[in-house]
Amino acid sequence: KGERLRLPPWLKTEIPIGKNYNRLKNTLRDLNLHTVCEEARCPNIGECWGGGEYATATATIMLMGDTCTRGCRFCSIKTARRPPPLDPNEPYNTAKAIAAWGLDYVVLTSVDRDDIADGGADHFATTVINLKERDSRILVECLTPDFRGDLAAVEKIALSGLDVYAHNVETVRELQRFVRDPRANFDQSLSVLRHAKKVEPTLLTKTSIMLGLGETDQQILDTLTELREAGVDCLTLGQYMQPTKRHLKVEEYVTPERFAHWEKVGNDMGFGYTASGPLVRSSYKAGEFFLKNLLK
Ligand code: SF4
Ligand code: SF4
Repeated sequence: KGERLRLPPWLKTEIPIGKNYNRLKNTLRDLNLHTVCEEARCPNIGECWGGGEYATATATIMLMGDTCTRGCRFCSIKTARRPPPLDPNEPYNTAKAIAAWGLDYVVLTSVDRDDIADGGADHFATTVINLKERDSRILVECLTPDFRGDLAAVEKIALSGLDVYAHNVETVRELQRFVRDPRANFDQSLSVLRHAKKVEPTLLTKTSIMLGLGETDQQILDTLTELREAGVDCLTLGQYMQPTKRHLKVEEYVTPERFAHWEKVGNDMGFGYTASGPLVRSSYKAGEFFLKNLLK
Protein backbone atom coordinates (compact mmCIF):
# COMPACT_ATOMS: atom_id res chain seq x y z
CA LYS A 1 0.00 0.00 0.00
CA GLY A 2 1.02 3.65 -0.32
CA GLU A 3 2.10 3.62 -3.98
CA ARG A 4 -0.50 4.30 -6.60
CA LEU A 5 -1.11 1.36 -8.94
CA ARG A 6 -0.19 1.82 -12.60
CA LEU A 7 -2.93 1.93 -15.18
CA PRO A 8 -3.14 -1.45 -16.93
CA PRO A 9 -3.22 -1.61 -20.75
CA TRP A 10 -6.88 -2.63 -20.99
CA LEU A 11 -7.90 0.75 -19.58
CA LYS A 12 -6.01 2.67 -22.24
CA THR A 13 -7.70 1.26 -25.33
CA GLU A 14 -9.57 3.35 -27.89
CA ILE A 15 -13.30 2.78 -27.94
CA PRO A 16 -15.17 2.54 -31.25
CA ILE A 17 -17.56 5.30 -32.30
CA GLY A 18 -21.03 4.23 -33.45
CA LYS A 19 -22.96 5.83 -36.28
CA ASN A 20 -25.37 8.05 -34.30
CA TYR A 21 -22.53 9.74 -32.45
CA ASN A 22 -21.92 12.67 -34.80
CA ARG A 23 -25.60 13.38 -35.27
CA LEU A 24 -26.17 13.59 -31.50
CA LYS A 25 -23.00 15.57 -30.91
CA ASN A 26 -23.94 18.15 -33.54
CA THR A 27 -27.53 18.59 -32.42
CA LEU A 28 -26.83 18.85 -28.68
CA ARG A 29 -25.44 22.37 -28.72
CA ASP A 30 -28.65 24.41 -28.85
CA LEU A 31 -30.62 22.27 -26.43
CA ASN A 32 -29.10 23.37 -23.11
CA LEU A 33 -28.93 19.80 -21.78
CA HIS A 34 -26.31 18.71 -19.27
CA THR A 35 -25.15 15.25 -20.15
CA VAL A 36 -23.10 13.28 -17.65
CA CYS A 37 -21.52 11.65 -20.71
CA GLU A 38 -19.79 14.90 -21.73
CA GLU A 39 -19.34 16.52 -18.35
CA ALA A 40 -17.71 13.46 -16.79
CA ARG A 41 -15.73 12.89 -20.03
CA CYS A 42 -17.01 9.34 -20.02
CA PRO A 43 -14.85 7.06 -22.19
CA ASN A 44 -17.92 5.19 -23.44
CA ILE A 45 -19.52 8.13 -25.19
CA GLY A 46 -18.77 6.89 -28.73
CA GLU A 47 -20.45 3.59 -27.99
CA CYS A 48 -23.39 4.86 -25.94
CA TRP A 49 -24.32 7.74 -28.22
CA GLY A 50 -23.40 5.86 -31.35
CA GLY A 51 -25.46 2.77 -30.53
CA GLY A 52 -24.28 -0.74 -31.37
CA GLU A 53 -26.01 -3.76 -32.85
CA TYR A 54 -29.49 -2.22 -32.52
CA ALA A 55 -28.29 1.37 -33.13
CA THR A 56 -29.87 2.36 -29.83
CA ALA A 57 -28.47 5.70 -28.70
CA THR A 58 -28.21 6.10 -24.92
CA ALA A 59 -27.27 9.21 -22.95
CA THR A 60 -27.37 10.23 -19.29
CA ILE A 61 -28.85 13.55 -18.20
CA MET A 62 -28.30 15.12 -14.80
CA LEU A 63 -31.24 16.77 -13.02
CA MET A 64 -31.35 19.04 -9.96
CA GLY A 65 -28.04 20.82 -10.43
CA ASP A 66 -24.39 19.97 -10.03
CA THR A 67 -24.03 20.13 -6.24
CA CYS A 68 -24.75 17.19 -3.93
CA THR A 69 -25.68 17.24 -0.25
CA ARG A 70 -23.61 14.09 0.31
CA GLY A 71 -19.94 13.29 -0.01
CA CYS A 72 -19.18 9.74 -1.09
CA ARG A 73 -15.48 8.90 -1.03
CA PHE A 74 -15.37 7.73 -4.65
CA CYS A 75 -17.27 10.61 -6.23
CA SER A 76 -15.92 13.93 -7.51
CA ILE A 77 -19.20 15.86 -7.54
CA LYS A 78 -19.26 19.19 -5.64
CA THR A 79 -20.77 19.08 -2.16
CA ALA A 80 -22.75 21.65 -0.13
CA ARG A 81 -25.25 21.54 2.70
CA ARG A 82 -27.64 23.83 0.87
CA PRO A 83 -27.22 23.70 -2.89
CA PRO A 84 -29.15 26.29 -4.96
CA PRO A 85 -32.93 25.67 -5.11
CA LEU A 86 -34.40 23.50 -7.85
CA ASP A 87 -35.38 25.12 -11.12
CA PRO A 88 -39.16 24.57 -11.26
CA ASN A 89 -39.09 24.69 -15.07
CA GLU A 90 -36.44 22.01 -15.37
CA PRO A 91 -38.80 19.00 -15.71
CA TYR A 92 -40.62 20.68 -18.59
CA ASN A 93 -37.58 22.15 -20.34
CA THR A 94 -35.49 19.03 -20.00
CA ALA A 95 -38.25 16.78 -21.29
CA LYS A 96 -38.71 19.09 -24.28
CA ALA A 97 -34.99 19.12 -25.07
CA ILE A 98 -34.58 15.35 -24.71
CA ALA A 99 -37.58 14.70 -26.95
CA ALA A 100 -36.11 17.04 -29.58
CA TRP A 101 -32.70 15.40 -29.42
CA GLY A 102 -33.68 12.07 -30.92
CA LEU A 103 -32.41 9.58 -28.35
CA ASP A 104 -33.74 6.04 -28.07
CA TYR A 105 -32.97 5.54 -24.40
CA VAL A 106 -32.34 8.14 -21.75
CA VAL A 107 -31.02 7.77 -18.23
CA LEU A 108 -32.20 10.53 -15.90
CA THR A 109 -30.06 10.84 -12.83
CA SER A 110 -29.36 13.40 -10.13
CA VAL A 111 -27.27 14.39 -7.18
CA ASP A 112 -28.70 13.59 -3.73
CA ARG A 113 -30.80 16.45 -2.39
CA ASP A 114 -31.28 15.71 1.29
CA ASP A 115 -32.14 19.42 1.71
CA ILE A 116 -35.48 18.99 -0.11
CA ALA A 117 -38.49 17.40 1.59
CA ASP A 118 -39.11 14.66 -0.99
CA GLY A 119 -35.47 14.51 -2.10
CA GLY A 120 -36.55 15.70 -5.55
CA ALA A 121 -38.78 12.68 -6.30
CA ASP A 122 -41.53 14.87 -7.68
CA HIS A 123 -39.02 16.60 -9.94
CA PHE A 124 -37.93 13.24 -11.37
CA ALA A 125 -41.49 12.00 -11.82
CA THR A 126 -42.64 15.21 -13.52
CA THR A 127 -39.74 15.01 -15.96
CA VAL A 128 -40.67 11.43 -16.90
CA ILE A 129 -44.35 12.33 -17.34
CA ASN A 130 -43.52 15.33 -19.55
CA LEU A 131 -41.07 13.31 -21.59
CA LYS A 132 -43.38 10.36 -22.19
CA GLU A 133 -46.15 12.76 -23.21
CA ARG A 134 -43.92 14.23 -25.88
CA ASP A 135 -42.29 11.01 -27.00
CA SER A 136 -44.04 7.79 -26.01
CA ARG A 137 -41.46 5.74 -27.87
CA ILE A 138 -38.41 6.77 -25.84
CA LEU A 139 -37.26 4.35 -23.13
CA VAL A 140 -36.63 6.02 -19.79
CA GLU A 141 -34.44 4.86 -16.95
CA CYS A 142 -34.22 6.80 -13.68
CA LEU A 143 -31.06 6.32 -11.66
CA THR A 144 -32.17 7.70 -8.34
CA PRO A 145 -30.83 8.57 -4.87
CA ASP A 146 -31.95 6.45 -1.90
CA PHE A 147 -34.23 9.26 -0.59
CA ARG A 148 -33.02 8.28 2.90
CA GLY A 149 -35.27 5.26 2.62
CA ASP A 150 -38.42 7.34 2.01
CA LEU A 151 -40.52 4.77 0.14
CA ALA A 152 -43.23 7.27 -0.80
CA ALA A 153 -40.59 9.11 -2.83
CA VAL A 154 -39.53 5.86 -4.51
CA GLU A 155 -43.15 5.05 -5.27
CA LYS A 156 -43.79 8.40 -6.92
CA ILE A 157 -41.04 7.69 -9.44
CA ALA A 158 -41.87 4.01 -9.85
CA LEU A 159 -45.41 4.96 -10.90
CA SER A 160 -44.42 7.83 -13.23
CA GLY A 161 -44.34 5.73 -16.41
CA LEU A 162 -40.62 4.97 -16.63
CA ASP A 163 -39.23 1.67 -17.96
CA VAL A 164 -36.25 0.98 -15.71
CA TYR A 165 -35.78 1.90 -12.07
CA ALA A 166 -32.07 2.02 -11.20
CA HIS A 167 -30.41 2.65 -7.89
CA ASN A 168 -26.78 1.81 -7.25
CA VAL A 169 -25.57 -0.09 -4.19
CA GLU A 170 -22.07 0.95 -5.41
CA THR A 171 -20.08 -1.70 -3.52
CA VAL A 172 -20.37 -4.92 -1.49
CA ARG A 173 -22.19 -4.88 1.85
CA GLU A 174 -18.96 -4.93 3.90
CA LEU A 175 -17.46 -1.80 2.27
CA GLN A 176 -20.51 0.48 2.39
CA ARG A 177 -19.28 2.63 5.29
CA PHE A 178 -15.84 2.95 3.80
CA VAL A 179 -17.01 3.96 0.31
CA ARG A 180 -20.37 5.74 0.53
CA ASP A 181 -21.59 8.74 2.50
CA PRO A 182 -22.61 7.60 6.02
CA ARG A 183 -26.25 8.41 5.25
CA ALA A 184 -26.28 5.59 2.67
CA ASN A 185 -26.25 1.89 3.46
CA PHE A 186 -26.82 -1.46 1.82
CA ASP A 187 -30.17 -2.33 3.39
CA GLN A 188 -31.64 1.09 2.66
CA SER A 189 -30.60 0.75 -0.98
CA LEU A 190 -32.03 -2.78 -1.20
CA SER A 191 -35.33 -1.49 0.20
CA VAL A 192 -35.46 1.16 -2.58
CA LEU A 193 -35.01 -1.49 -5.28
CA ARG A 194 -37.47 -3.87 -3.63
CA HIS A 195 -40.13 -1.22 -3.23
CA ALA A 196 -39.93 0.02 -6.82
CA LYS A 197 -40.58 -3.54 -8.02
CA LYS A 198 -43.34 -4.11 -5.51
CA VAL A 199 -45.43 -1.08 -6.51
CA GLU A 200 -44.87 -1.58 -10.26
CA PRO A 201 -43.98 -5.22 -11.03
CA THR A 202 -43.60 -4.54 -14.79
CA LEU A 203 -40.60 -2.28 -14.09
CA LEU A 204 -37.10 -3.57 -14.54
CA THR A 205 -34.87 -2.81 -11.59
CA LYS A 206 -31.17 -2.29 -11.95
CA THR A 207 -28.09 -1.73 -9.83
CA SER A 208 -24.39 -1.28 -10.19
CA ILE A 209 -21.26 -2.12 -8.23
CA MET A 210 -17.68 -0.95 -8.62
CA LEU A 211 -14.84 -3.44 -8.26
CA GLY A 212 -11.27 -2.71 -7.23
CA LEU A 213 -12.02 -1.19 -3.81
CA GLY A 214 -10.62 -4.14 -1.85
CA GLU A 215 -13.69 -6.42 -1.88
CA THR A 216 -13.20 -10.20 -1.78
CA ASP A 217 -14.70 -12.71 -4.22
CA GLN A 218 -16.91 -14.11 -1.48
CA GLN A 219 -18.21 -10.63 -0.67
CA ILE A 220 -19.06 -10.05 -4.34
CA LEU A 221 -20.84 -13.37 -4.53
CA ASP A 222 -22.86 -12.68 -1.38
CA THR A 223 -23.81 -9.23 -2.65
CA LEU A 224 -25.01 -10.61 -5.98
CA THR A 225 -27.04 -13.24 -4.14
CA GLU A 226 -28.73 -10.61 -1.97
CA LEU A 227 -29.50 -8.46 -5.01
CA ARG A 228 -31.08 -11.38 -6.82
CA GLU A 229 -33.14 -12.22 -3.75
CA ALA A 230 -34.41 -8.63 -3.77
CA GLY A 231 -35.68 -9.21 -7.32
CA VAL A 232 -33.12 -6.98 -9.06
CA ASP A 233 -33.26 -7.65 -12.82
CA CYS A 234 -30.17 -6.01 -14.22
CA LEU A 235 -26.66 -5.73 -12.91
CA THR A 236 -23.57 -3.84 -14.02
CA LEU A 237 -20.03 -4.25 -12.71
CA GLY A 238 -17.16 -1.89 -13.58
CA GLN A 239 -13.70 -0.86 -12.42
CA TYR A 240 -13.50 1.86 -9.74
CA MET A 241 -11.29 4.72 -10.98
CA GLN A 242 -9.90 7.26 -8.52
CA PRO A 243 -11.12 10.69 -9.70
CA THR A 244 -8.55 12.80 -7.75
CA LYS A 245 -5.81 12.23 -5.17
CA ARG A 246 -8.25 13.12 -2.40
CA HIS A 247 -10.51 10.20 -3.23
CA LEU A 248 -10.28 6.53 -2.31
CA LYS A 249 -7.34 4.71 -3.85
CA VAL A 250 -7.78 1.90 -6.32
CA GLU A 251 -6.84 -1.30 -4.46
CA GLU A 252 -6.81 -3.48 -7.55
CA TYR A 253 -7.24 -3.27 -11.31
CA VAL A 254 -9.51 -6.21 -11.94
CA THR A 255 -8.62 -8.01 -15.18
CA PRO A 256 -11.03 -8.29 -18.13
CA GLU A 257 -11.03 -12.07 -17.53
CA ARG A 258 -12.28 -11.61 -13.97
CA PHE A 259 -14.98 -9.22 -15.19
CA ALA A 260 -16.03 -11.85 -17.73
CA HIS A 261 -16.18 -14.35 -14.88
CA TRP A 262 -18.57 -12.12 -12.93
CA GLU A 263 -20.71 -11.62 -16.01
CA LYS A 264 -21.11 -15.37 -16.25
CA VAL A 265 -21.88 -15.64 -12.54
CA GLY A 266 -24.55 -12.95 -12.91
CA ASN A 267 -26.12 -14.66 -15.91
CA ASP A 268 -26.09 -18.04 -14.15
CA MET A 269 -27.78 -16.49 -11.12
CA GLY A 270 -30.66 -15.37 -13.32
CA PHE A 271 -30.21 -11.63 -13.74
CA GLY A 272 -32.02 -10.52 -16.93
CA TYR A 273 -28.75 -9.04 -18.02
CA THR A 274 -25.34 -8.56 -16.51
CA ALA A 275 -22.89 -6.10 -18.06
CA SER A 276 -19.43 -6.51 -16.60
CA GLY A 277 -16.15 -5.01 -17.80
CA PRO A 278 -13.43 -2.59 -16.76
CA LEU A 279 -15.09 0.41 -18.44
CA VAL A 280 -18.69 -0.53 -17.76
CA ARG A 281 -20.65 2.18 -15.95
CA SER A 282 -24.18 1.87 -14.66
CA SER A 283 -25.64 3.49 -17.79
CA TYR A 284 -23.20 1.84 -20.21
CA LYS A 285 -25.06 1.03 -23.46
CA ALA A 286 -28.21 0.74 -21.38
CA GLY A 287 -30.47 0.93 -24.43
CA GLU A 288 -28.64 -1.86 -26.22
CA PHE A 289 -28.85 -4.14 -23.21
CA PHE A 290 -32.49 -3.33 -22.66
CA LEU A 291 -33.38 -4.32 -26.21
CA LYS A 292 -31.23 -7.41 -26.14
CA ASN A 293 -33.03 -8.47 -22.99
CA LEU A 294 -36.46 -7.86 -24.55
CA LEU A 295 -35.60 -9.69 -27.76
CA LYS A 296 -34.16 -12.74 -25.98
FE1 SF4 B 1 -23.07 8.46 -20.95
FE2 SF4 B 1 -23.34 6.53 -19.10
FE3 SF4 B 1 -22.69 5.91 -21.58
FE4 SF4 B 1 -20.91 7.13 -20.08
S1 SF4 B 1 -21.71 5.09 -19.75
S2 SF4 B 1 -21.39 7.65 -22.20
S3 SF4 B 1 -22.24 8.49 -18.86
S4 SF4 B 1 -24.62 6.85 -20.94
FE1 SF4 C 1 -21.71 11.49 -5.69
FE2 SF4 C 1 -24.15 10.39 -5.61
FE3 SF4 C 1 -22.53 10.25 -3.48
FE4 SF4 C 1 -23.63 12.57 -4.22
S1 SF4 C 1 -24.71 10.74 -3.46
S2 SF4 C 1 -21.50 12.25 -3.59
S3 SF4 C 1 -23.60 12.40 -6.45
S4 SF4 C 1 -22.21 9.29 -5.50
